[in-house]
Amino acid sequence: MPITTQYPKKQKTAHYDIIIIGAGSVGCAIARKFTLEGAQVLILEKGTDILDGASKGNSAILHTGFDAPPDSIEQSCIADSYQEFMSLRDKLHLPLMKTGALLLAWTEDEADQLDGILKKAQYNNVNDTQRLSAKVILNKEPQLASHLKAGIYIPKESLIDPWTTPFVYMYQAIENGAQLICCCEVSNGQFDGEKWQLETSQGKFKATTVINCAGLYGDLIDQQLLGWSAFQINPRKGQFIVYDTPANRLIHSIILPVPNKTSKGVLICQTIFGKLLVGPSAEDQDDREDASVTTETLQMLQKKGEELLPALVNESINASYAGICPATQFKDYQIHYHNKKNYVSVSGIRSTGLTAALGIANYVFLQLQKEKSIYSPLDTIIYPKRLNQIAECETRDWQKEGNQGIVCHCERATEREVVTALEDAHLPVNSLDALKRRTRVTMGRCQSFYCSARLAEITETYFKRPI
Ligand SMILES: Cc1cc2nc3c(=O)[nH]c(=O)nc-3n(C[C@H](O)[C@H](O)[C@H](O)COP(=O)(O)OP(=O)(O)OC[C@H]3O[C@@H](n4cnc5c(N)ncnc54)[C@H](O)[C@@H]3O)c2cc1C
Repeated sequence: MPITTQYPKKQKTAHYDIIIIGAGSVGCAIARKFTLEGAQVLILEKGTDILDGASKGNSAILHTGFDAPPDSIEQSCIADSYQEFMSLRDKLHLPLMKTGALLLAWTEDEADQLDGILKKAQYNNVNDTQRLSAKVILNKEPQLASHLKAGIYIPKESLIDPWTTPFVYMYQAIENGAQLICCCEVSNGQFDGEKWQLETSQGKFKATTVINCAGLYGDLIDQQLLGWSAFQINPRKGQFIVYDTPANRLIHSIILPVPNKTSKGVLICQTIFGKLLVGPSAEDQDDREDASVTTETLQMLQKKGEELLPALVNESINASYAGICPATQFKDYQIHYHNKKNYVSVSGIRSTGLTAALGIANYVFLQLQKEKSIYSPLDTIIYPKRLNQIAECETRDWQKEGNQGIVCHCERATEREVVTALEDAHLPVNSLDALKRRTRVTMGRCQSFYCSARLAEITETYFKRPI
């Protein structure tokens, strides 16, 4: 059976209003925004599925922006996005765990920095933060190490589903008329003064405006299409260790460190999938793809975790992973509108892009719309039906009747949800990675040892590369 890479399978259009390069968290949100505003949108993604770049591995925190660089594009996009996420959450069935965060000082030196962090939070309009004593914090989180000095409570920091959230943005875009083509790498393009023609691995596509959301390849796409780039991507890897489900009883809040000059530091938090996360590291590297983990770094994370949360010594580690973020030489996001070329570069979305995606989409839309008001919003907007929920805070398919039994016992993913993901009308999966992001199969303790045989049978004719 030929593998579909075009969603929906309708006829391609001769000319689009907007072509978005890249379907990461940011591309998905921008596709949704422009589609609902009435533009004809095409998204070109080189991976077999959406979320194949930086967006596939992160900490999944919905940030308030309390610590974002003041007066930055990042801070304003986070603030806008946070509000919009909250207002869309019920309509789009987006899971959320309202955990709150504790930013903790473990030395006197770190404690001295807390007032400055509080001031920054207030400047950024995150006014509900408060300084807490070690005693109050240990009452709240009794498993933390007792050498704690003091901390700041940030009540609105939360956890979200890193995959379902952008997936729903893209799903809504497609249901309202956008088109997505996967396995489609943009290699070059020309602008004739009015429109773009992009060259890709699946032929040529025309559009009035191009939006570059290529994440780790943002600078290279700018160089190919514009001939230059205002920034350089400096990939930064973050490794994580994931503790098995029983460990997630040990803490309830997101435990943040006092940040250092180069990174936000190692955090500890639950995941929306019911595990406990320690990480990330922050390693600058040249390679844009190498998301391998190393024993040395994982041991460093384990030691750090046990230092702050001693009871972790008795817990078992379930998995490890790494994400790579598109950092640049600048602190702020790199969003540049080249109005004479009908081109927007949306790059350098480093450590907060999952949170800020809706705000970035609004920001980019306003940039374009303030030049020329060309789109008129759809009269009727379709909201996707409740999609399969993989977050532990939602009712999972294994808890419902008629699920055809469990395929992945570690993660309790059912045969019905696997088949539904494979046969989805709008965005079916065609790789094991994609199936994992829709159902959680293979993510558990056995790391696919028990479920891969059955999964190979069920998915036999569906994947680009069979299991
Ligand atoms: C360790 C770590 C922890 C993080 N934690 C958080 C967090 O807790 N909260 C939060 O909000 N954010 C977090 N982030 C940040 C967040 O993950 C990123 O900001 C976000 O994923 C960036 O998304 P993007 O869409 O810009 O890039 P990407 O996800 O990289 O998307 C770009 C897409 O473009 C495609 N592409 C590239 N080149 C081409 C081409 N030539 N043709 C077609 N397609 C192309 C790629 O395949 C990819 O799918 C974290 C990041 C890391 C690494």
